[in-house]
Amino acid sequence: MFTLGQVYKNSEEVKVMSYKIGFIGLGQMGGRMCKRLIEGNDVIAFDVNKNRLKQVVDLGAKEAKSPKELAAYSDFILASLPDSNVVESVVFGQDGIIEGCQSGAVFIDLSSSRPASTQKIALELKKKNVSMLDAPVSRGVAAAEKGTLSMMVGGDAAVLEKCKPILQILATDIYHVGDIGAGHILKMLNNLVSSTCFIITAEALVLGAKAGLDPKLVNDVLNASSGRSYATEKRFPDYVFKNNLNSGFSIKLMHKDISMCLEFAQQMLVPLPVGSSVVQTYTTAMSQGRGDDDNLCMVEIMEKIVGVKVRT
Ligand code: NAD
Repeated sequence: MFTLGQVYKNSEEVKVMSYKIGFIGLGQMGGRMCKRLIEGNDVIAFDVNKNRLKQVVDLGAKEAKSPKELAAYSDFILASLPDSNVVESVVFGQDGIIEGCQSGAVFIDLSSSRPASTQKIALELKKKNVSMLDAPVSRGVAAAEKGTLSMMVGGDAAVLEKCKPILQILATDIYHVGDIGAGHILKMLNNLVSSTCFIITAEALVLGAKAGLDPKLVNDVLNASSGRSYATEKRFPDYVFKNNLNSGFSIKLMHKDISMCLEFAQQMLVPLPVGSSVVQTYTTAMSQGRGDDDNLCMVEIMEKIVGVKVRT
Protein backbone atom coordinates (compact mmCIF):
# COMPACT_ATOMS: atom_id res chain seq x y z
CA MET A 1 0.00 0.00 0.00
CA PHE A 2 1.25 3.51 -0.78
CA THR A 3 1.93 5.82 2.11
CA LEU A 4 2.27 9.55 1.72
CA GLY A 5 5.74 10.65 0.65
CA GLN A 6 7.08 7.14 0.21
CA VAL A 7 8.47 6.31 -3.21
CA TYR A 8 7.30 3.13 -4.86
CA LYS A 9 10.39 1.83 -6.69
CA ASN A 10 9.49 -0.45 -9.50
CA SER A 11 12.52 -2.53 -10.32
CA GLU A 12 11.04 -5.92 -11.14
CA GLU A 13 9.80 -7.03 -14.54
CA VAL A 14 6.13 -6.07 -14.53
CA LYS A 15 3.57 -8.75 -15.28
CA VAL A 16 0.01 -7.51 -15.32
CA MET A 17 -3.39 -8.82 -16.15
CA SER A 18 -5.12 -7.21 -19.09
CA TYR A 19 -6.96 -3.97 -18.36
CA LYS A 20 -9.42 -1.99 -20.44
CA ILE A 21 -7.56 1.29 -20.86
CA GLY A 22 -8.57 4.40 -22.76
CA PHE A 23 -5.75 6.78 -23.74
CA ILE A 24 -6.37 10.36 -24.88
CA GLY A 25 -3.55 12.56 -26.24
CA LEU A 26 -0.93 10.70 -28.27
CA GLY A 27 1.79 13.36 -28.56
CA GLN A 28 5.45 13.27 -27.57
CA MET A 29 4.69 11.75 -24.18
CA GLY A 30 1.26 10.18 -24.62
CA GLY A 31 2.12 8.37 -27.85
CA ARG A 32 5.05 6.64 -26.18
CA MET A 33 3.13 5.83 -22.99
CA CYS A 34 0.17 4.48 -24.97
CA LYS A 35 2.46 2.19 -26.99
CA ARG A 36 3.80 0.66 -23.79
CA LEU A 37 0.26 0.00 -22.53
CA ILE A 38 -0.92 -1.64 -25.75
CA GLU A 39 1.26 -4.66 -25.07
CA GLY A 40 -0.80 -6.89 -22.78
CA ASN A 41 -3.82 -4.61 -22.37
CA ASP A 42 -7.01 -3.83 -24.24
CA VAL A 43 -6.39 -0.22 -25.27
CA ILE A 44 -8.70 2.25 -27.00
CA ALA A 45 -7.21 5.58 -28.05
CA PHE A 46 -8.24 9.06 -29.14
CA ASP A 47 -6.42 12.12 -30.47
CA VAL A 48 -7.60 14.99 -32.64
CA ASN A 49 -4.46 14.36 -34.72
CA LYS A 50 -5.41 11.45 -36.99
CA ASN A 51 -1.80 10.58 -37.89
CA ARG A 52 -0.92 10.08 -34.25
CA LEU A 53 -4.05 8.01 -33.73
CA LYS A 54 -3.17 5.81 -36.71
CA GLN A 55 0.28 5.10 -35.27
CA VAL A 56 -1.18 3.41 -32.18
CA VAL A 57 -4.06 1.79 -34.08
CA ASP A 58 -1.44 0.14 -36.31
CA LEU A 59 0.09 -1.29 -33.12
CA GLY A 60 -3.20 -2.82 -31.97
CA ALA A 61 -5.17 -0.08 -30.21
CA LYS A 62 -8.85 0.39 -30.98
CA GLU A 63 -9.85 3.75 -32.42
CA ALA A 64 -12.37 5.88 -30.51
CA LYS A 65 -14.39 8.47 -32.39
CA SER A 66 -14.71 10.67 -29.29
CA PRO A 67 -13.68 10.87 -25.62
CA LYS A 68 -17.26 9.78 -24.80
CA GLU A 69 -16.92 6.57 -26.82
CA LEU A 70 -13.50 5.94 -25.29
CA ALA A 71 -14.81 6.44 -21.75
CA ALA A 72 -17.76 4.11 -22.33
CA TYR A 73 -15.29 1.33 -23.19
CA SER A 74 -12.67 1.89 -20.46
CA ASP A 75 -12.15 1.00 -16.81
CA PHE A 76 -9.12 3.30 -16.70
CA ILE A 77 -9.07 6.55 -18.70
CA LEU A 78 -5.63 8.13 -19.11
CA ALA A 79 -4.93 11.55 -20.62
CA SER A 80 -1.69 13.26 -21.69
CA LEU A 81 -2.82 16.61 -23.03
CA PRO A 82 -1.21 20.05 -23.47
CA ASP A 83 -2.96 21.92 -20.67
CA SER A 84 -6.00 22.17 -18.39
CA ASN A 85 -8.15 23.92 -20.99
CA VAL A 86 -7.79 20.89 -23.24
CA VAL A 87 -8.26 18.45 -20.36
CA GLU A 88 -11.50 20.23 -19.40
CA SER A 89 -12.67 20.21 -23.01
CA VAL A 90 -12.22 16.43 -23.33
CA VAL A 91 -13.98 15.86 -19.99
CA PHE A 92 -16.83 18.39 -20.18
CA GLY A 93 -17.04 19.25 -23.91
CA GLN A 94 -19.36 17.79 -26.51
CA ASP A 95 -19.05 13.97 -26.54
CA GLY A 96 -16.76 14.31 -23.56
CA ILE A 97 -15.64 11.77 -20.98
CA ILE A 98 -18.33 12.82 -18.51
CA GLU A 99 -21.05 11.73 -20.96
CA GLY A 100 -19.60 8.25 -21.44
CA CYS A 101 -17.77 7.23 -18.29
CA GLN A 102 -18.85 4.14 -16.38
CA SER A 103 -19.46 4.01 -12.65
CA GLY A 104 -16.35 2.65 -10.91
CA ALA A 105 -13.91 3.85 -13.57
CA VAL A 106 -10.77 5.89 -12.81
CA PHE A 107 -9.60 8.98 -14.71
CA ILE A 108 -5.83 9.58 -14.54
CA ASP A 109 -4.49 12.93 -15.77
CA LEU A 110 -0.84 12.45 -16.76
CA SER A 111 -0.63 15.99 -18.15
CA SER A 112 0.96 18.93 -16.35
CA SER A 113 -2.28 20.65 -15.44
CA ARG A 114 -3.61 23.45 -13.24
CA PRO A 115 -4.37 22.09 -9.74
CA ALA A 116 -7.65 24.01 -9.28
CA SER A 117 -8.96 22.67 -12.58
CA THR A 118 -7.95 19.14 -11.54
CA GLN A 119 -9.88 19.47 -8.28
CA LYS A 120 -12.95 20.74 -10.15
CA ILE A 121 -12.84 17.82 -12.60
CA ALA A 122 -12.44 15.33 -9.72
CA LEU A 123 -15.55 16.73 -8.00
CA GLU A 124 -17.68 16.44 -11.15
CA LEU A 125 -16.46 12.91 -11.90
CA LYS A 126 -17.22 11.87 -8.34
CA LYS A 127 -20.90 12.59 -9.04
CA LYS A 128 -20.69 9.80 -11.64
CA ASN A 129 -18.86 7.52 -9.17
CA VAL A 130 -15.64 7.93 -11.16
CA SER A 131 -12.39 8.44 -9.21
CA MET A 132 -9.52 10.64 -10.30
CA LEU A 133 -5.76 10.75 -9.83
CA ASP A 134 -3.44 13.52 -11.01
CA ALA A 135 -0.26 11.74 -12.07
CA PRO A 136 2.05 14.11 -13.94
CA VAL A 137 5.40 12.78 -15.02
CA SER A 138 9.00 13.87 -15.41
CA ARG A 139 12.25 12.78 -17.16
CA GLY A 140 11.09 13.39 -20.73
CA VAL A 141 10.39 11.41 -23.86
CA ALA A 142 13.28 8.93 -23.53
CA ALA A 143 11.90 7.82 -20.15
CA ALA A 144 8.36 7.70 -21.55
CA GLU A 145 9.65 5.34 -24.22
CA LYS A 146 11.43 3.07 -21.71
CA GLY A 147 8.82 3.23 -18.93
CA THR A 148 11.27 4.87 -16.54
CA LEU A 149 9.37 8.08 -15.79
CA SER A 150 9.09 9.59 -12.36
CA MET A 151 5.48 10.20 -11.35
CA MET A 152 3.99 12.44 -8.65
CA VAL A 153 0.49 11.35 -7.76
CA GLY A 154 -2.33 13.20 -6.03
CA GLY A 155 -5.52 11.48 -4.92
CA ASP A 156 -6.79 8.66 -2.78
CA ALA A 157 -4.17 6.05 -1.74
CA ALA A 158 -6.57 3.16 -2.37
CA VAL A 159 -7.28 4.40 -5.89
CA LEU A 160 -3.55 4.69 -6.52
CA GLU A 161 -3.08 1.14 -5.28
CA LYS A 162 -5.74 -0.04 -7.74
CA CYS A 163 -3.97 1.78 -10.61
CA LYS A 164 -0.45 0.68 -9.64
CA PRO A 165 -0.21 -2.23 -12.15
CA ILE A 166 -0.92 0.23 -14.96
CA LEU A 167 1.21 3.12 -13.72
CA GLN A 168 4.22 0.89 -13.15
CA ILE A 169 4.29 0.13 -16.88
CA LEU A 170 5.02 3.83 -17.33
CA ALA A 171 7.09 4.86 -14.32
CA THR A 172 9.86 3.42 -12.14
CA ASP A 173 9.50 6.00 -9.35
CA ILE A 174 5.94 6.64 -8.21
CA TYR A 175 5.38 9.10 -5.34
CA HIS A 176 2.07 9.60 -3.62
CA VAL A 177 2.35 13.28 -2.70
CA GLY A 178 -1.08 14.18 -1.30
CA ASP A 179 -4.74 14.71 -2.11
CA ILE A 180 -6.12 15.41 -5.55
CA GLY A 181 -4.19 18.29 -7.17
CA ALA A 182 -1.02 17.73 -5.13
CA GLY A 183 0.71 15.94 -8.01
CA HIS A 184 0.04 18.88 -10.29
CA ILE A 185 1.37 21.32 -7.68
CA LEU A 186 4.57 19.30 -7.32
CA LYS A 187 5.02 19.11 -11.08
CA MET A 188 4.86 22.93 -11.30
CA LEU A 189 7.50 23.16 -8.59
CA ASN A 190 9.72 20.69 -10.42
CA ASN A 191 9.55 22.65 -13.66
CA LEU A 192 10.11 25.95 -11.85
CA VAL A 193 13.38 24.50 -10.55
CA SER A 194 14.43 22.68 -13.72
CA SER A 195 13.75 25.66 -16.02
CA THR A 196 15.57 28.02 -13.66
CA CYS A 197 18.64 25.77 -13.52
CA PHE A 198 18.62 25.42 -17.29
CA ILE A 199 18.25 29.13 -18.03
CA ILE A 200 20.81 30.24 -15.45
CA THR A 201 23.30 27.65 -16.74
CA ALA A 202 22.75 28.90 -20.30
CA GLU A 203 23.34 32.47 -19.11
CA ALA A 204 26.57 31.45 -17.36
CA LEU A 205 27.84 29.54 -20.41
CA VAL A 206 27.01 32.41 -22.77
CA LEU A 207 28.78 34.88 -20.46
CA GLY A 208 31.77 32.53 -20.18
CA ALA A 209 31.92 32.17 -23.98
CA LYS A 210 31.82 35.95 -24.39
CA ALA A 211 34.73 36.15 -21.94
CA GLY A 212 36.66 33.64 -24.07
CA LEU A 213 36.20 30.50 -21.93
CA ASP A 214 35.49 27.08 -23.44
CA PRO A 215 31.79 26.28 -22.71
CA LYS A 216 32.42 22.54 -22.27
CA LEU A 217 35.22 23.25 -19.82
CA VAL A 218 32.98 25.67 -17.93
CA ASN A 219 30.29 22.97 -17.74
CA ASP A 220 32.81 20.34 -16.57
CA VAL A 221 33.95 22.64 -13.79
CA LEU A 222 30.37 23.46 -12.78
CA ASN A 223 29.72 19.70 -12.60
CA ALA A 224 32.68 19.26 -10.29
CA SER A 225 31.62 22.27 -8.20
CA SER A 226 28.60 23.74 -6.48
CA GLY A 227 26.96 24.90 -9.76
CA ARG A 228 26.02 21.32 -10.64
CA SER A 229 22.42 20.49 -11.62
CA TYR A 230 20.42 18.29 -14.00
CA ALA A 231 21.14 20.96 -16.62
CA THR A 232 24.93 20.63 -16.27
CA GLU A 233 24.84 16.85 -15.82
CA LYS A 234 22.42 15.93 -18.60
CA ARG A 235 20.92 18.68 -20.71
CA PHE A 236 24.13 20.39 -21.81
CA PRO A 237 26.39 17.31 -22.24
CA ASP A 238 23.75 14.96 -23.71
CA TYR A 239 21.92 17.44 -25.94
CA VAL A 240 23.22 21.00 -26.29
CA PHE A 241 26.94 20.20 -26.72
CA LYS A 242 25.99 17.50 -29.24
CA ASN A 243 24.11 20.23 -31.09
CA ASN A 244 20.92 18.25 -30.57
CA LEU A 245 18.22 20.74 -29.64
CA ASN A 246 15.45 18.18 -29.76
CA SER A 247 14.45 16.83 -26.37
CA GLY A 248 10.74 16.49 -27.26
CA PHE A 249 9.51 19.23 -24.89
CA SER A 250 8.40 22.50 -26.44
CA ILE A 251 9.00 26.08 -25.32
CA LYS A 252 5.24 26.70 -25.13
CA LEU A 253 4.72 23.80 -22.71
CA MET A 254 7.52 25.00 -20.42
CA HIS A 255 6.11 28.54 -20.63
CA LYS A 256 2.71 27.14 -19.63
CA ASP A 257 4.16 25.27 -16.64
CA ILE A 258 6.04 28.24 -15.16
CA SER A 259 3.17 30.64 -15.90
CA MET A 260 0.79 28.32 -14.03
CA CYS A 261 3.22 28.16 -11.15
CA LEU A 262 3.45 31.96 -10.95
CA GLU A 263 -0.33 32.30 -11.07
CA PHE A 264 -0.62 29.73 -8.27
CA ALA A 265 2.01 31.57 -6.21
CA GLN A 266 0.11 34.84 -6.68
CA GLN A 267 -3.04 33.20 -5.30
CA MET A 268 -1.04 31.83 -2.36
CA LEU A 269 0.60 35.25 -1.79
CA VAL A 270 4.05 33.75 -2.22
CA PRO A 271 6.51 35.96 -4.10
CA LEU A 272 8.60 34.26 -6.80
CA PRO A 273 11.01 36.97 -7.98
CA VAL A 274 13.43 34.54 -9.65
CA GLY A 275 10.65 32.49 -11.27
CA SER A 276 9.11 35.72 -12.60
CA SER A 277 12.38 36.51 -14.39
CA VAL A 278 12.73 33.02 -15.80
CA VAL A 279 9.26 33.06 -17.32
CA GLN A 280 10.14 36.31 -19.12
CA THR A 281 12.87 34.52 -21.06
CA TYR A 282 10.31 32.02 -22.33
CA THR A 283 7.80 34.81 -23.01
CA THR A 284 10.43 36.53 -25.17
CA ALA A 285 10.90 33.30 -27.14
CA MET A 286 7.11 32.93 -27.50
CA SER A 287 6.84 36.53 -28.77
CA GLN A 288 9.38 35.64 -31.47
CA GLY A 289 7.12 32.82 -32.67
CA ARG A 290 9.33 30.09 -31.17
CA GLY A 291 6.64 28.39 -29.02
CA ASP A 292 6.63 25.16 -31.01
CA ASP A 293 10.43 24.86 -30.94
CA ASP A 294 12.09 22.61 -28.42
CA ASN A 295 12.79 24.22 -25.03
CA LEU A 296 16.52 23.57 -25.56
CA CYS A 297 16.38 26.20 -28.33
CA MET A 298 16.45 28.78 -25.52
CA VAL A 299 20.24 28.39 -25.71
CA GLU A 300 20.28 29.23 -29.40
CA ILE A 301 18.13 32.32 -28.74
CA MET A 302 20.53 33.49 -26.02
CA GLU A 303 23.54 32.80 -28.25
CA LYS A 304 22.02 35.00 -30.96
CA ILE A 305 21.33 37.90 -28.57
CA VAL A 306 24.96 37.96 -27.38
CA GLY A 307 26.61 36.86 -30.62
CA VAL A 308 28.53 33.86 -29.22
CA LYS A 309 28.16 30.08 -29.46
CA VAL A 310 28.20 27.59 -26.63
CA ARG A 311 27.50 24.72 -29.04
CA THR A 312 30.17 23.18 -31.19
P1 NAD B 1 2.25 17.22 -27.33
O1 NAD B 1 1.80 18.55 -27.77
O2 NAD B 1 3.35 16.52 -28.06
O3 NAD B 1 0.98 16.22 -27.32
C1 NAD B 1 -0.32 16.60 -26.96
C2 NAD B 1 -1.28 15.72 -27.75
O4 NAD B 1 -2.60 16.07 -27.38
C3 NAD B 1 -1.17 15.91 -29.27
O5 NAD B 1 -1.08 14.67 -29.93
C4 NAD B 1 -2.47 16.61 -29.63
O6 NAD B 1 -2.94 16.32 -30.94
C5 NAD B 1 -3.38 16.07 -28.56
N1 NAD B 1 -4.59 16.88 -28.36
C6 NAD B 1 -4.69 18.23 -28.32
N2 NAD B 1 -5.97 18.59 -28.13
C7 NAD B 1 -6.69 17.44 -28.05
C8 NAD B 1 -8.06 17.15 -27.85
N3 NAD B 1 -8.98 18.12 -27.70
N4 NAD B 1 -8.46 15.86 -27.83
C9 NAD B 1 -7.56 14.85 -28.00
N5 NAD B 1 -6.24 15.06 -28.19
C10 NAD B 1 -5.81 16.35 -28.20
O7 NAD B 1 2.60 17.36 -25.78
P2 NAD B 1 3.57 16.43 -24.92
O8 NAD B 1 4.96 16.96 -25.00
O9 NAD B 1 3.29 15.01 -25.20
O10 NAD B 1 3.04 16.81 -23.45
C11 NAD B 1 1.81 16.32 -22.95
C12 NAD B 1 1.69 16.76 -21.50
O11 NAD B 1 2.77 16.21 -20.74
C13 NAD B 1 1.78 18.27 -21.31
O12 NAD B 1 0.90 18.66 -20.29
C14 NAD B 1 3.23 18.51 -20.95
O13 NAD B 1 3.40 19.70 -20.20
C15 NAD B 1 3.53 17.26 -20.14
N6 NAD B 1 4.94 16.81 -20.13
C16 NAD B 1 5.68 16.79 -21.29
C17 NAD B 1 7.00 16.32 -21.23
C18 NAD B 1 7.86 16.26 -22.49
O14 NAD B 1 9.07 16.00 -22.35
N7 NAD B 1 7.32 16.45 -23.68
C19 NAD B 1 7.55 15.88 -20.03
C20 NAD B 1 6.75 15.89 -18.88
C21 NAD B 1 5.44 16.37 -18.93
